[in-house]
Amino acid sequence: MIEDIVSLHLPVEETFRIRKNVIRHGEGKRLCVVTGIHGDELEGQYVCFLLARILNQQPELLHGSVEIYPAVNPLGIDSIQRGIPGFDLDMNRTFPGSDSGVMTEFVAKKLVADAAGADAVFDIHASNIFLTEVPQIRINELHREMLLPLARQANMDFIWIHGASTVLESTFAYSLNSIGTPCLVVEMGVGMRMTEKYGQQLTNGILHVMKTMGMWDGDVPPVSEPVLCDAEDEVIFLNASCSGMFMKTKEQGSLVKKGETVGYVFHPLRGEVLEYVTAEKSGLLFTIREYPLVEEGSLIGRILVREDMQK
Ligand SMILES: [Zn+2]
Repeated sequence: MIEDIVSLHLPVEETFRIRKNVIRHGEGKRLCVVTGIHGDELEGQYVCFLLARILNQQPELLHGSVEIYPAVNPLGIDSIQRGIPGFDLDMNRTFPGSDSGVMTEFVAKKLVADAAGADAVFDIHASNIFLTEVPQIRINELHREMLLPLARQANMDFIWIHGASTVLESTFAYSLNSIGTPCLVVEMGVGMRMTEKYGQQLTNGILHVMKTMGMWDGDVPPVSEPVLCDAEDEVIFLNASCSGMFMKTKEQGSLVKKGETVGYVFHPLRGEVLEYVTAEKSGLLFTIREYPLVEEGSLIGRILVREDMQK
């Protein structure tokens, strides 16, 4: 059943609408899948499609309610812009919102109220257009206890726990987590693109979470054990030291040895390699640059340092 969460008249003809698809069968828990807060991050679109299709095909296997919100920043999604067009505003800095505020604050308040009380919420993001990320869940230390057991069930490759000092209180996930509604932030793939493999992987993860919650009777492939990157673990950021074009030679998710090249910066006019970007320590390359053009300081990749690989 398609429901309107928000419906507002825009100045002349159009209507601003945020919709969700509620798929319900029998009694049970409630899970929400939210995506499109950042309009240029499309990986979640494919997950919404796959999940809705599976649930529509076999509704009798569902016990409870799955609510799918593919485009909570609809103007952003339609124009593939990160923020809310016309407001020059990052929607994920507008939460928890306000009943009496401007339209963006009102919308934020409605969204939080709508998802509040769910047994689990997935807030699916992609990376930006510059970097590719392995499928991962990001958790703030503040909500570790509530979220980590759930995150481990979600079939992601990586869980990154951030220190409490980096918490952003104006995000959708923080607003829900702070009122006790568990919300997992997924980051995967790359901006403006969809990655079939990652979409399927997360869809299986969501079904697996549903199964552990007693919401799903269907078969689910075994989930992978994620690598845990704790707040005190060492993460190295690789940056370009010059301007040029970057070609990656390692894929995201590769284990790299100290001194190993992950890519190089070249000068197309002169036919020269300007820099080989190498791993400063051995570990897991969980982020790699996708966007070729680099300037001095551009982020090339991130490595989780693995102590067991240092010898
Ligand atoms: Zn995002």
